[in-house]
Order: sequence, then structure tokens, then C-alpha cells
Amino acid sequence: MQLRISVNDYAELRRNYDELKQFRFYPDAFPVMDHEPLKHYFQLLSSPEEIGKAIITLITFQKDDLVAQCSGIMLPFQTLHSLQHEETLFFHDDWYAGFLLHSCEPNCKLDMNDFTLHAVRDIKVYELLTVDYNATEKKLYQGFNCLCGSANCKGWIGGYDYKEN
Ligand SMILES: [Zn+2]
Repeated sequence: MQLRISVNDYAELRRNYDELKQFRFYPDAFPVMDHEPLKHYFQLLSSPEEIGKAIITLITFQKDDLVAQCSGIMLPFQTLHSLQHEETLFFHDDWYAGFLLHSCEPNCKLDMNDFTLHAVRDIKVYELLTVDYNATEKKLYQGFNCLCGSANCKGWIGGYDYKEN
């Protein structure tokens, strides 16, 4: 089993779109991108109800690796599965990045300028992919009480501009 991705894998996969599209997270209408998430490498899980869906990795990553090039629809408003791009512009990604779980000690970081996902530490096979929502969202669509269990857990997660009343 091959555990790391190379751009050659994508070149190989892109040769046959009919085959590739079975493995895409994103809809057919979205342009194919190098390093977009594919089901060879990731799986969308339905986790216990209070958490909802989650993404796990089927391959390993090393710190600073590009994990995935995410995509989405740019919207002038927030949705449950959107990520903040600018003050009033949001990437709605109901296929992949919108399902990354929050952790106060995440294994990934989402760059909201180019929408790339990078590993912030080594990641093992079958790990849940997590990001810090407080780092990407000014105010969450739906705040929640974090149960990540990390030593520096922030408790209530509402976005970086959130102020508890
Ligand atoms: Zn936490």
C-alpha cells in the first residue's frame, strides 16, 4: 500500500476522468485540481451524532506536507459548512473542508487565502483531520463547547472574534 501522494499519482489519475470522478469528493462541475482530495487518500466518516461527519486520512503525512487543495463555492454569507475567506466572503465546501473537525491542538492548518490544507505535525493513517476553527472563522455559524481534551482546550469555540456575554 502506498502511503504518500506524489504529483505523478495525480497525473496518472487525470488520464482517465471516468475513473477519476469515482474518487472525487467535489462535484463533476468543479475543475480537477492537482492535490484535490480523492477517496484513495481520504474517507468521509459519519461519526457519533454530536460530532457529525468527519474526514480521516488513509495515508500518512509529514509536518508541512500539502494535505489537500480544497475547493468550494464562494458565497457572500456563511453556511454551516463554509469557511471564512474575507470579512464578507465565504467558501462553502459541503464536500470536504466543511467536514474537517475542530481541535484546539489540530493536526492541520487551512490557509484561507489559497484554500490549501497543510499538516502541522506528522499524521498517521486513519487519524481524524482537524483544524482550529478559531483560527479561520471570525464568528462561527454555530458555536459549540469543545471536548477535544487537549491541555490547552479553549472550551467554547465561537470564532476568533467571539466574546462571551
Ligand atoms: Zn478543545
